[in-house]
Amino acid sequence: MSDRAQALFEGIRQGDRAALARGITLVESTRVDHQQQARELVSACVGVERQRRTLRIGLTGTPGVGKSTFIEAFGMLLLSKGHRVSVLAVDPSSSRSGGSILGDKTRMQDLSVAAGAYVRPSPSRGSLGGVARNTLDSIILTEAGGYDICLVETVGVGQSETMVADMVDMFVLLLQPGSGDELQGVKRGIMELADLVVINKADGALAIPAKLTRTEIMNALHLMIPRRTSWTPKVLRASAVTGYNLERVWETVELYFSKLRESGEWDSLRAAQQEKWMWREVTNLLLTRLRRDPEVRKLAQALEADVVSGVVPPGIAAEQIVERFLLRV
Ligand code: GDP
Repeated sequence: MSDRAQALFEGIRQGDRAALARGITLVESTRVDHQQQARELVSACVGVERQRRTLRIGLTGTPGVGKSTFIEAFGMLLLSKGHRVSVLAVDPSSSRSGGSILGDKTRMQDLSVAAGAYVRPSPSRGSLGGVARNTLDSIILTEAGGYDICLVETVGVGQSETMVADMVDMFVLLLQPGSGDELQGVKRGIMELADLVVINKADGALAIPAKLTRTEIMNALHLMIPRRTSWTPKVLRASAVTGYNLERVWETVELYFSKLRESGEWDSLRAAQQEKWMWREVTNLLLTRLRRDPEVRKLAQALEADVVSGVVPPGIAAEQIVERFLLRV
């Protein structure tokens, strides 16, 4: 292992937050030498993580539903129970617009300065696939740093939810009480990913509508094929502002993990995720190598023009590009 990776590893193990932040920056870097060091660091951290399983929880919801308020309140509750909490974010807006939906507010003011918590702003560059992959590595780093619960926040377009669902053990969907329109806006695919739906803002004038929304969501969930064999998705009302039912949310999370642990489903879930990420990485590495080869790139550019003008069908062009690449390696 390089000196840099070794030093970061030791810092992270000792709970040094600055070392953790530098480690994650290394993971996010696109420089080839940094990527090599990042791989060494992550490999060392994986060894630590294997000894003690941590809880990885994904959390999603449309902007304004109360994600940061909820994570702040829920995170503080977890700290009060003696847990150490890390918060990471996958923000698909960053890869498209260069701006960030999640990152541009002052978020989680108490949690981000609390001793037992580590809140990482969403990376502002990179493709969604790249950001998601880095997040998986970052989770492993925070776990090696002794954070035993990792909350991964995302917002977006379906694809980012699917990627986050593939890196966490439990997926929580945050909704707010309200109109049918609001619920129609939630894509069915995202509902299907949810192990727990929290109807946030169940306070004041919204307490009653929240009950109705809960019933509607429960009815909708009944029609879906359960994702897990040892768990049926639950729907809870809660309020991030008053703290109502946050304790119930935590009890439900604990129950979920005890069910999955007992049934062995947690192990098989992690194993399947590992396999999936390995193949994603294979695809990614192959594409990176392919695009780096000047001769293949030249051919691809020529073929791209032919495909666009309709002279060559896409399948034929793809085959030619891959054939040329295979001759070059
Ligand atoms: P995000 O965009 O999903 O991160 O949402 P925010 O956490 O920034 O919250 C959006 C707005 O909803 C803010 O004005 C919050 O104060 C408000 N909000 C969040 N949680 C609750 C809640 O439980 N009850 C009420 N009444 N308002 C809330």
